[in-house]
Amino acid sequence: ALADHYGQLATQAPTSLDAFWMPFSANRQFKAAPRLLASASGMYYKDVEGREILDATAGLWCCNAGHARPRIVEAVRKQIETLDFAPNFQMSSPLPFVLAERLAELTPGNLNHVFFTNSGSESVDSALKIAIAYHRARGEGQRTRLIGREKGYHGVGFGGISVGGLPNNRKWFGPGLPGVDHLRHTLDIGRNAFSKGLPEYGIELAEDLERMVALHDASTIAAVIIEPISGSAGVVIPPQGYLQRIREICDKYGIVLIFDEVITGFGRIGDAFGAQRFGVTPDIITAAKGITNGCIPMGAVFLSDAIHDAFMQGPDNAIDLFHGYTYSGHPMACAAALATLDTYAEENLFQRARDLEGYWQSGIHSLRGLPNVIDIRNYGLIGAIELAPRPGAPGARAYDAFVHAFHHGGLLTRVTGDVIALSPPLIAEKKHIDRIFEALADALRASA
Ligand code: PLP
Repeated sequence: ALADHYGQLATQAPTSLDAFWMPFSANRQFKAAPRLLASASGMYYKDVEGREILDATAGLWCCNAGHARPRIVEAVRKQIETLDFAPNFQMSSPLPFVLAERLAELTPGNLNHVFFTNSGSESVDSALKIAIAYHRARGEGQRTRLIGREKGYHGVGFGGISVGGLPNNRKWFGPGLPGVDHLRHTLDIGRNAFSKGLPEYGIELAEDLERMVALHDASTIAAVIIEPISGSAGVVIPPQGYLQRIREICDKYGIVLIFDEVITGFGRIGDAFGAQRFGVTPDIITAAKGITNGCIPMGAVFLSDAIHDAFMQGPDNAIDLFHGYTYSGHPMACAAALATLDTYAEENLFQRARDLEGYWQSGIHSLRGLPNVIDIRNYGLIGAIELAPRPGAPGARAYDAFVHAFHHGGLLTRVTGDVIALSPPLIAEKKHIDRIFEALADALRASA
């Protein structure tokens, strides 16, 4: 009876939508015409009216193995009955250790140490703090400057918005952290429109980092943080050779390189991490989302031996890092993550993004020539369709296409500005990919 009670609350339209202030949403517009998802399985959601919605965004770039996967459901159910919570400050439980070892096997290079958080934003702020503290631990406490990139999205903490490069996420909230600078972004529709995979032009933009060094001096720079592929800014794919060049410059000057892989991690582009797909190993990787297949909040920061070991120099009884969250290494999240990694491995899902990449690429580029489409970008199982904005109403056209696709095409997409971004679960089959692009073609014609 209790289960029925909560089940009903979770699947029926609520009587009032007033109290919940929705994040990153046009609350008044949404509440006038809500889109409410009630259940999910595999590639599909169902909304509160019982309509089936094909998930072309893996939730919010996080449900990489699709929804309600049996192993994960079972592991979480079992864990809550066994150990609901355990502190991790000067105490712990087995699962965070088991999980960290498993994760360290997946990470590139010598990124063998894992710091747990609860979200991408927390992972980013943790990584930035650790990078600064690492230099201090090595006797270079003057290295505090952080370099981000225009159009970067690194979550919404004060650290993340400071290094981030999306004006709306910054301008409302004051000046942010001092001592931050930004590389230019690499989106260049003029030269690279309709690139398939990595765009040809733009490697020279990596030289911005040399300019930052010339301006600020390397001795003041702690870290550079970039997304291998910017996701939330509308899917910006790195130009050929760009990430390699950034790595070289960081090596030359002893700058910590952080890859924010909150989206590109866990199979999205055909390897455990983008670092491996691109053949570029950073010093720190930030992750979240796909680590638990989105079902329980969790994030992680992966750190090189050199960074970790720099903190282990004091007396054994000294706390090595004054940082952490009540829920770092939460047993429920660890259980979900372990079952998620098993699901990825059993179904060889990281390889799937590579296997499907060609089909995905043909499908998305078939939308070229539809009204207002000014660029199409893809890599792994990520794609974006950029539309010409309606005069005086930036974002409106893509938003209309998103709403049309949802109501008429039974398709969940994601919109930022005038970009429609796509990232289906890695279990997608060709028939799902076909349906995604059919529904989108309709939506693009309808919102012309
Ligand atoms: N970093 C990147 C690259 C992201 O894409 C996101 C979320 O989309 C974040 C950080 C923030 O993650 P969260 O929303 O879990 O805080």
